[in-house]
Amino acid sequence: MKLQNVILPGRDPKSRWDVDYENDTINTITPAIASTAPGCTASSSNNPSPFTLEESPDPASLLLPPLCHPHIHLDKAYLLTCNAQHNPRCAGTGPLPEYTDLAPQDGSFKEALEFTARAKQRYTPEDLYLRGSQLLGTSLGQGVTSCRAFVELDHVTGRKCLDAAVNLKKVFNGMVRVQICAFAQDPIFSTGHGEENRQILSRALEECSEGDIEVLGTTPYVENSREASLENIKWAVETALTRGLHLDFHLDYNLDREQSVMTWDVLQVLKEKRWKDRAQPGKAIVLGHCTRLTLCEDEEMERLAKTIKEWQLPVHFVGLPTSDLFMMGRSTSGDRRRGTIQVLDMISRGMDACLSVNNVGNAFTPWGTGDPIALASLGVGVYQAGTEEDAVRLYECVSTRARRAIGLESENDTVALSEGRKGEVLLVRNEQWVGCPGHLGMKIPARQWVSVRDVVWDPPDVGLRQIVRGG
Ligand SMILES: [Zn+2]
Repeated sequence: MKLQNVILPGRDPKSRWDVDYENDTINTITPAIASTAPGCTASSSNNPSPFTLEESPDPASLLLPPLCHPHIHLDKAYLLTCNAQHNPRCAGTGPLPEYTDLAPQDGSFKEALEFTARAKQRYTPEDLYLRGSQLLGTSLGQGVTSCRAFVELDHVTGRKCLDAAVNLKKVFNGMVRVQICAFAQDPIFSTGHGEENRQILSRALEECSEGDIEVLGTTPYVENSREASLENIKWAVETALTRGLHLDFHLDYNLDREQSVMTWDVLQVLKEKRWKDRAQPGKAIVLGHCTRLTLCEDEEMERLAKTIKEWQLPVHFVGLPTSDLFMMGRSTSGDRRRGTIQVLDMISRGMDACLSVNNVGNAFTPWGTGDPIALASLGVGVYQAGTEEDAVRLYECVSTRARRAIGLESENDTVALSEGRKGEVLLVRNEQWVGCPGHLGMKIPARQWVSVRDVVWDPPDVGLRQIVRGG
């Protein structure tokens, strides 16, 4: 397969290249034989617009590394927005549950946990499969080819969510690489159901076929005491090590100076349990949310970066700003400051960090399309990151850095595509005219996406994106 006349990230946007793909590998990159950029010379008599462009072959497309969701909840996607009862195509699948009564009333975290717990009681295999496939299908259309999919295991769901995920992993094989995270959203060391929840999770890890579950995830902050949170962390680290899994914590999800930073406890446990020596090669730890870190002074952040480096721990932070901005900063005292980890700042301090969507269409995050490029774009505002270099780093956060966090990419975070690179690519197609000239009644030259910066600042329509696989 040959991709002709494309623009490549990190190279002069005026240059055009022919890319030769073979066996899913970029074989050669050579200067394009002829430039086909649209000219602006000839006129057209039936075009009422002042622009007189001659018809020319399609403008050059931009080629990018594919997108990745390093943290997304597969089982609770679209609870509030699936409206499955209105979908005539679902008629043959039996009654699907209704969730519309579980829309947020006060929008608090407590309410989201409570409403989602109620939603979980209604899950059916068909419903989980439908919403999961809608999420993966939508993601694929957006340019996502890999994800870490969280599915909950507890006394309410049992294995239901996991079974749906295993099924979806097979169905999307070859299109989206689904890495399943067996996840305890609920307590496993406190409250009336802690013990039972832990047993269900343990049993699933034991019984699951080799490779079905690749990650263990827990939520230490939902335990009802600091001791139970520490138990949760120790158990998860030991279990991940014993079973050769990646590890993923939802952690430090608060904006409360009174609460201690549990990220330090996780590092301590990883050191004590000798993660560096005992973990299987390539297995890493991801810490999600960690909003509490935004209250840390520079000195503490420096110390954090230094400790992770000195102890040689493969720790990645994942910022989840669409959820964090919605959830955090609800103090009744009138203090409405928001908090989401400063992903770019952490990277500049030498830490590994990336960005993810977390939730779509549920009480934790009712808004958003789940598009990783829209998320990178949000980062420009949230992190006040307006340089070209910032835009490239933000794209890495939903692409190469995200893939590395979940163990799919090696050391290289660059978005540059070079000869020998393996795997699929994302093509952003440029159009010649704004919208449809027939509907507009005139022809207006379309703006062109020629760099990563353009894509991050102004995410291209999903219809202009296409995954390309080298056959
Ligand atoms: Zn999450």
